[in-house]
Amino acid sequence: MNFLEERILKDGTVKPGNVLKVDNFLNHQMDIALMDQMAEAFYARFGHKNITKVLTIEASGIAIACAAARRFGVPALFAKKSKSVNLDGDMYVAEVESFTHKVTNRVIVSKKYLSPADHVLIVDDFLANGAALQGLISIVEASGATVEGLGIAIEKGFQNGGYRIRNLGYDLCSLAIVEAMDPVTGEITFRQQ
Ligand code: 5GP
Repeated sequence: MNFLEERILKDGTVKPGNVLKVDNFLNHQMDIALMDQMAEAFYARFGHKNITKVLTIEASGIAIACAAARRFGVPALFAKKSKSVNLDGDMYVAEVESFTHKVTNRVIVSKKYLSPADHVLIVDDFLANGAALQGLISIVEASGATVEGLGIAIEKGFQNGGYRIRNLGYDLCSLAIVEAMDPVTGEITFRQQ
C-alpha cells in the first residue's frame, strides 16, 4: 500500500452516494507534506516530460497543483468557475458537471496563460465520471497546447472516468484507485497497481 492509500484508510470516510470524504487531509484541512509527497510521485512519473505548466480546476485541485508546480518548477494555473454569461473572446471555456454538487459550472482560463508552446500536466484531487478532466482537456486542446499527462490523487475505479480517459489515449496516473467502498461498513479496497 502506498502513502496515499494508507492515509485514505486512516482518515477517509465513505458517504452515501459514492462519495469519499477526505476533508481531514486533502480538500478542506490540508496536509501540505502529503501534497509534497504527491507532487514527488507525479514528478517520478512525468518528470521526464518537458512540462511547462500545471493546470487544475478550482477549488480543491489548487493545493495539489501548487505542490506539483513547485516540484516541476513551472506555474500553476487553475480553471475558474465563472457565473458570467457574457464572456469576451479572451477566454477558453468548458462546461463541467460537478459530481459532488450536481450543477453544471462554466469554467474559464484566460487565453493569456495557455499557448501552443505549452506542455501541460493536468492535476485534480478526484476522478469520478471524468467531467472535470474532460473539461480541462478540452481547454488545453482549444489552446493548441499539448496534454502531456494527467495526475490524480484519488480515482474511483468503479466509476467510468478513468476508463474513458485512458481509452482516449491519455497518460493518466492515479496515485490511489478505489476499487470498492461500502458506506455501511466503511470498508475501502484499492486496485493493485
Ligand atoms: P468527475 O468530474 O470526474 O465526475 O468528478 C471529479 C470532481 O468531483 C473532482 O474535482 C472532485 O472535486 C469531485 N469529486 C468526485 N468524487 C468525489 C468524492 O468521492 N469525494 C470528494 N470529496 N470529491 C469528489
